[in-house]
Amino acid sequence: MAKLITLIKLLPKAHQIALSLLVIFTVIIVLFPSDDAKASKHTQVGKVDLSERIQSLQNAPHKGDETNSPNKQSEYSVPLAFRTPTPPGQTGSQSNTSLQKLQALTPSKESSPIADLNPLAASDNTILTPTKDAENAVPYREADLLSHKAYKVSKGDTFGGLANRAGLTPRDVYQITRLPKSKKNLLKIMPGEEIIVTKDAQDEITQISYQMDKISTLLISKNEDKFEETVNVKTITLENKFITANISSNFWNAAATAGLSANHIMQLANIFGWDIDFALDIRKDDHFSLMYEEEYVDGQYIGTGNILAAEFYNQGERYTAVRYTDGEYYSESGNSMRKAFLRSPVDFKYVSSSFNPRRLHPVTGQVKAHRGVDYVAAIGTPIKAAGKGKVVEASYNKYNGNYVFIKHNDTYTTKYLHLNKRKVKRGDSVKQGEIIGTLGKTGRVTGAHLHYEFIVNGVHRNPRTVKLPKSQPIDKKERTQFAALSKQLMAKIEKNKQLQYANN
Ligand SMILES: [Zn+2]
Repeated sequence: MAKLITLIKLLPKAHQIALSLLVIFTVIIVLFPSDDAKASKHTQVGKVDLSERIQSLQNAPHKGDETNSPNKQSEYSVPLAFRTPTPPGQTGSQSNTSLQKLQALTPSKESSPIADLNPLAASDNTILTPTKDAENAVPYREADLLSHKAYKVSKGDTFGGLANRAGLTPRDVYQITRLPKSKKNLLKIMPGEEIIVTKDAQDEITQISYQMDKISTLLISKNEDKFEETVNVKTITLENKFITANISSNFWNAAATAGLSANHIMQLANIFGWDIDFALDIRKDDHFSLMYEEEYVDGQYIGTGNILAAEFYNQGERYTAVRYTDGEYYSESGNSMRKAFLRSPVDFKYVSSSFNPRRLHPVTGQVKAHRGVDYVAAIGTPIKAAGKGKVVEASYNKYNGNYVFIKHNDTYTTKYLHLNKRKVKRGDSVKQGEIIGTLGKTGRVTGAHLHYEFIVNGVHRNPRTVKLPKSQPIDKKERTQFAALSKQLMAKIEKNKQLQYANN
């Protein structure tokens, strides 16, 4: 270079000036091209970005399948509002479902999701004049400057490792984990869960979000190197639903076919569990109607709510239940549904049910004619204390096998025979519904079952039909208010029942 300058200095003055002018002109041409050249250059850049983006979108579903590798992140940009949480362990990867959702949200099938993502605006702050390639780009929006990226926790991952991949510095991690809610939630983040990192156009992190549960999102905002946390809780909307069903094969099938969730089916059986033995006493043409709540967030179903009121016809007998503001259920006339004894010590879902009242004894092969009731179910099925009381016997002999006797008061005693395992000892106090053992085939039996006896003043009674002590009525102060609620809800059930019958 020095030699070149010396050489130029040796040239005559006129030549030196001419050469300098040439150099300056060349520099101007290179640095400031014409408008046309500029536009084509930009389009070129845009083309590359667009095709890269198409590539990445097309690859996204496959990428999602490979999330075991911690370095592979889902490379899509999705506005937060479009995202829905996927519980860990659900099949299908997050990137898959979000992409499908996004595609579903695009107005027409022809317009590609790429246009909505507007990668040009996101990757380049200049507004492009429409060219053939950029025709589909939507107008520039402020939100497009922010990019959101999901980072999924893989097996054996820590928050530190995850944060590192997301581009957070150890100092950032330190500051974040000093925030109480972040510390509580992020330090025990589970595989399959994810954080979403939002960056601005300068590629600076502005926010980190973490879905705590179906309705709460932890938001950590970064403002001038300081982190702040807030929790965004969505509102749950309750919708009232109504179902009426007739039982033709069994209770579970009838309820499930009518559209009742497993949770509500069990709730319903528990509400009437003091009056009806769901394991053995359900008959063909028993029928029921109920009104219940379902929980929604942003129009999406998130779970079951409470049963508000129900009516159950069992073998011609009508039973009703209304949920009051104390969370308890009362019959429509205001008597507590809770009674001193459960009708069945075994949950109906475990018991092989039969409608035939003259069915043969499952073990002896004879028509049932002994002093107890037999529940046939799998070995290990939990057995509940029918009522609160004291264990007066818990032992083994060759006839009863493992057995437990519970004295409830001077009048009532219940007996549970042929248990596989005893879970209580003589002298124990038990609560109603407490597991006292498991169903088995110990003693003189040929098959697994629970033999259950109900004794009133020393006399064996049929536990499924015996008149039981009266339940507590609702508090006097609540009576008027309850009566109004009960009347209103039962009228709704009746009205909906008529509607449903009319439609069938
Ligand atoms: Zn028996």
